[in-house]
Amino acid sequence: MLRTLREFTLAESPSTEKAAADRCAELIAAEWRKRNVLVNLIRQKSRGNHIRIEWRPPSQNRSGQLFVLGHYDTVYAVGTLRKVPFTLRNGKVFGPGVFDMKAGIVQALFALDALRSLKAPVRKQVVFLWTSDEEIGSESSRKLLEAEARRSDAVFVLEPSFGPRGLLKTARKGVGEAELTVYGKASHAGLAPQEGVNAVHELALQISKISQWNDLRRGVTVNADIVLGGTRVNVIAESACATIDLRALYTADMRAVEKKLKSLGPILPGAKLEITGGFNRAPLEHKYSAALFARAKKLASQMGVSLGECTAGGGSDGNFTAALGIPTLDGLGAVGDGAHSTHEHVIARTMPERAALLAALLAAS
Ligand SMILES: [Zn+2]
Repeated sequence: MLRTLREFTLAESPSTEKAAADRCAELIAAEWRKRNVLVNLIRQKSRGNHIRIEWRPPSQNRSGQLFVLGHYDTVYAVGTLRKVPFTLRNGKVFGPGVFDMKAGIVQALFALDALRSLKAPVRKQVVFLWTSDEEIGSESSRKLLEAEARRSDAVFVLEPSFGPRGLLKTARKGVGEAELTVYGKASHAGLAPQEGVNAVHELALQISKISQWNDLRRGVTVNADIVLGGTRVNVIAESACATIDLRALYTADMRAVEKKLKSLGPILPGAKLEITGGFNRAPLEHKYSAALFARAKKLASQMGVSLGECTAGGGSDGNFTAALGIPTLDGLGAVGDGAHSTHEHVIARTMPERAALLAALLAAS
């Protein structure tokens, strides 16, 4: 498993560098082709090619489909390996993208090997999809993965688990970004203050209004994280804008926040507002993962592993599949820590265990 993980990691694959990503996709595809499965590279113009793998287990009365989903792109530019080489130290594997989520792809590969060599009676066709742009919003892969999810009875997402115990992610917040632009009227702050409409003041009023929508108990957060406005100290600000991070744990709350955003009106006379953006991923609500998690927990306990769950504040492609109403279990990938940082790592000894859990889930679903 480590040898394969090393091979996948040495092929650096940032979401935004197509040539490099394509080389990584080729490598991953070649590894799957050795397994007597159907492998298709789905060509992309500006992003890396997506990899779709179809396995038809040799079962008598096969019906339905299981969907294993993940991404091979990383947040690291080509050359990161020179600073953060692939290394195994004290049982931890370091390297760009090992945890998020190349080890997950390796685990899926070995889960397939296990099922095939044991001739386990898998009752459904299994589709694996490794996409190239999850880290930048899944623009080129969203339709594809949604179509695959609609054909499936369950989705298993191989995003990293959480914390040293490897908690699965049974709920994820919906995530969005909105931009609020205020147009006022410029005027001399000393000579004609009565003629100006201060866009910065208007924006400040709007932000204090918006900040009251926060409800940590229900998992709603609204944060103006970037603000820009004004030109010079003696000029009443003509325009100002804020970029607002939006998160909600429940679809109903997401809708409510979107509605309130759209119905914002100017507070100062003469000010104008423009609101763009909104939620990009709907929440992965717990109700779509509960039954699958119960199954995973039971299977894990049969292997002597205690499995826990948690809620993630960030989204993944699992949000898209759950939003379609398809049962989705996320965080089934690597156990480790430090995603998107220089200390990103995987706990090596957990890799076979998590591969076995995925294999068991595919056989039992
Ligand atoms: Zn990821």
